[in-house]
Amino acid sequence: MPDRERRWNGWGFADESAPVPESARTWLSKRLGAGDRLSAVPERDVRIPPARPVPDLPATTLSDPSSRLRHACGLGFPDVVRLRTGALEAFPDAVCFPENTRQVVAVLQSAAAAEVALVLRGGGTSVVGGITVRPGPRPTVVLTLDRLRGLASLDSVSLLATFRAGTLGPEVEGALAPCGLRLGHEPQSFEFSSVGGWVATRSAGQRSTGIGKIDDLVAGLEVATPGGVWRLPAQPASAAGPELRRLVIGSEGCLGVITEVTLRVRPLPECRDGVAVLVPGWSAGMEVCRALLQRGPVPEVVRLSDPDETSFGIALTELPRLASSVRNAIFGLRRFRHGCLLLLEWAGSLQKVTLARQTAAKVWRDSGGLALGRTGWQRWLDERFRHPYVRDALLSAGWGVDTLETATRWSALAALHNAVREAMTVAAQKAGFRTAVLCHLSHAYRDGASLYFTFLWPLRCGDEIGQWQAVKDAASEAIISNGGTITHHHGVGTMHAPYLEREVGEQGIAALAAVTRALDPQGFLNPGVLLLQTPEPGPRTPGGREE
Ligand SMILES: Cc1cc2nc3c(=O)[nH]c(=O)nc-3n(C[C@H](O)[C@H](O)[C@H](O)COP(=O)(O)OP(=O)(O)OC[C@H]3O[C@@H](n4cnc5c(N)ncnc54)[C@H](O)[C@@H]3O)c2cc1C
Repeated sequence: MPDRERRWNGWGFADESAPVPESARTWLSKRLGAGDRLSAVPERDVRIPPARPVPDLPATTLSDPSSRLRHACGLGFPDVVRLRTGALEAFPDAVCFPENTRQVVAVLQSAAAAEVALVLRGGGTSVVGGITVRPGPRPTVVLTLDRLRGLASLDSVSLLATFRAGTLGPEVEGALAPCGLRLGHEPQSFEFSSVGGWVATRSAGQRSTGIGKIDDLVAGLEVATPGGVWRLPAQPASAAGPELRRLVIGSEGCLGVITEVTLRVRPLPECRDGVAVLVPGWSAGMEVCRALLQRGPVPEVVRLSDPDETSFGIALTELPRLASSVRNAIFGLRRFRHGCLLLLEWAGSLQKVTLARQTAAKVWRDSGGLALGRTGWQRWLDERFRHPYVRDALLSAGWGVDTLETATRWSALAALHNAVREAMTVAAQKAGFRTAVLCHLSHAYRDGASLYFTFLWPLRCGDEIGQWQAVKDAASEAIISNGGTITHHHGVGTMHAPYLEREVGEQGIAALAAVTRALDPQGFLNPGVLLLQTPEPGPRTPGGREE
């Protein structure tokens, strides 16, 4: 079967879309007013300048306009606006498709010698500017991992599976399922993001509460560097110096190209069960989540929407008349005036799941929660990978939408939630428009949790990115000033690089710069990503490079 075509100027498959339901349009019109519709220019109207010459690279290399356009950026809000308006700031001069680790090393060495900037690209779903080609004096080549795909080896005794870095989410699970195994790492971008991208960005899947972040799933790594191949084999545990695998996890392409990853996998669960619960408010909901994480049994999925996200979620869900009346009656109860929707899911043996559900039920009942049954959870499960299509539909309907995320300890979570919402709302007001800020708590831990914000606003034609920037800057500032991490799972990219030093300190930046300089002395890998300034060139590395 031929590969389904991907949309070049937005999310997902070209032949798939999701409309904005009428009830959601009404909700948005009331809260925000109408905005200017952002239509999408046809591909033929995008002006692509001629490619600058690049040296011969030892792998298939394309420089036709269509390939250059499709590899020019990721899927952050500014990327999508620029794609839709055809106003990209820069295009790669070529796109290179190595097919194995040997070719990747050879490409790195040729590119370094020719002083070409390389942008490393996995599935292309970065939302933080991690793969957006930027204007610069050096020709830029995108090195894509698209042809390094598939399961390289499986050690089913040790429950370790080694995948090539370009393998996409469905291919990972598709290779494991016939062996009765799964990885369980399911970011919302699952269908299009890659193993190497997950590791490079320290991604979190929607089941991370039970499964762990990708950080916890990586057992071993192979990294191609300009100086040769760096192997960090799988070990169950080790005391051989600092944990260097952890240095590569989250390195966002600045230390080399991750070519293979050995991942900890687990048996497919015998049983899965979930529930939607209505809790009386955000504080009560957070207490339920904390109790579940600290006392156990820990669910695989925990997702608590704040009152505004709960309200918008209802507007997005069109129900038959009877079901809708029942829902309205429940939400109309005084106790649930600021009601919050909590989704929980458990996986494992029937006995384990039954016990976990019973234990959790006691916790939510003690907090005044009401179980709404399995339907809400099942709907989320069925539709969760379709939600990103709604973003494109919202832009066409006149509303901007973006998301951002952070994490902090339980004791600081409520204050961070307030501070970020307030900062975003005020920033939009100052800039002369209204915004709706929605939030959910997910990716929960014993000591804290992630907050995932969605913000929506009426678009002003020609100023879409300016509007977004005003709110995004205010949110980033509020996160850092209130002790949150600048990113829980999207990564640093270029967008969060200005805030990194305030989180990791001057010493942290110096250490990162030194490691980058050691592995990429010429600073040609992903310049501007992770570190604001590419470290000064140092002495050249041994192994294939001049001294
Ligand atoms: C709609 C949507 C939903 C999302 N949902 C989630 C979510 O639930 N959880 C989450 O964590 N993230 C999410 N993201 C963000 C994104 O999907 C993740 O950051 C993902 O891990 C990126 O993987 P990728 O393969 O697409 O990498 P890319 O976007 O291609 O690259 C991301 C970064 O990693 C580097 N990189 C990629 N591959 C390699 C490699 N092999 N070696 C070295 N460096 C490499 C790139 O240079 C870049 O800096 C979402 C994004 C979108 C658009």
